[in-house]
Amino acid sequence: MLDPTAAPAARLRDSYGRAITDLRLSVTDRCNYKCVYCRTGTEGAQFTELPIADYLRMVRILVSLGIEKVRLTGGEPLLRAGLVDMVAELSQLRTAFHPDGTPLASGETGHPLDLALTTNGHLLADLATPLRAAGLNRVTVSMDAVDPETFARITRVPRSYERVLAGVRAAQAAGLGPVKVNCVLLHGFNDSQIEAFAEFSRREGVIVRFIEFMPLEEGRTWTPETVVTMDEILRRLNAWRPSCSTAAGLVELPPNVASETAKRFTFRDGVGEIGIIAPVSRPFCGHCSRVRITSDGCDRTCLFSQSDHDLYAVMRRGGTDEQIASYLRSVILKKEARHHIGEPGFEKPSRNMVHIGG
Ligand code: SAM
Repeated sequence: MLDPTAAPAARLRDSYGRAITDLRLSVTDRCNYKCVYCRTGTEGAQFTELPIADYLRMVRILVSLGIEKVRLTGGEPLLRAGLVDMVAELSQLRTAFHPDGTPLASGETGHPLDLALTTNGHLLADLATPLRAAGLNRVTVSMDAVDPETFARITRVPRSYERVLAGVRAAQAAGLGPVKVNCVLLHGFNDSQIEAFAEFSRREGVIVRFIEFMPLEEGRTWTPETVVTMDEILRRLNAWRPSCSTAAGLVELPPNVASETAKRFTFRDGVGEIGIIAPVSRPFCGHCSRVRITSDGCDRTCLFSQSDHDLYAVMRRGGTDEQIASYLRSVILKKEARHHIGEPGFEKPSRNMVHIGG
């Protein structure tokens, strides 16, 4: 345990002054989908997974350093046994700092963490209610088409669309809404789905977020030409007329928080919400507040890092919580200023998206 009588630590900051408040934790490297733009289809899990107790220890230490949001991911996190109990444990943790970054005084209690999960939704219909009951706040479901045939072609799993739709509806019903639906668009592949996703957002009451495709795939699919940019999505949706009684045109919504990665829009009748996340055409690295832990316990300071930092090795060697905290501080100081997608000399990161945890 961290020594409760020790002087309160300063909040985790990188060498550019960015406060690190957001953890993405991969709880398994296994995935039950083989989405064609993400995976080759011939490779399975490449990295091990840790006992849940070890992940929980890492999170507790990170929370003592200022982490306030935890997003569980994978691989596919719903494949991980013990996930619901893990969420219940995480929901007991309390933040350690005031919103202005000053540490809580002794006797003061922080607020519960913001607990979120990113999933392909295949197993969500059965797990949404238990996860909500355990204390999960929000869920993001990845969907790259709303046409069942295209969907199954992308995931390489028959009847996957029906499963995921049931998962989205179960999550909304369980109180995990509004569910966010993330869609990665690729030219000539699923870009025909833009307007259909807008319909889907309005019909299902979900927030649809289009994410620009990044060079993070197992294969070699990415080229600048495959990316459907924010400008193109805006052009398409601004020309789209949601219904005969509603004029065409998006209406911009204010950001929920200053560091929000998505630009938000609705339609003229206020029904539906579209977010666009544009890491390629409009990078937001200057606001990055994230750190990642892979399923095998490595710390990654950026999706595009060229190497991992083996946090679990420090634990295996018997490191105390203080030593682990000090290791994490030193790692965060190495956080990259920004990514270099599309620049000459860009090097692919040392791991692909599915093996980092998106
Ligand atoms: N299995 C979970 C899921 O499907 O949400 C979590 C892991 S998955 C790798 C996380 C997200 O990364 C998915 O929304 C997926 O579409 C996205 N993703 C995968 N490869 C990507 C890439 N090259 N560029 C942008 N997003 C990508």
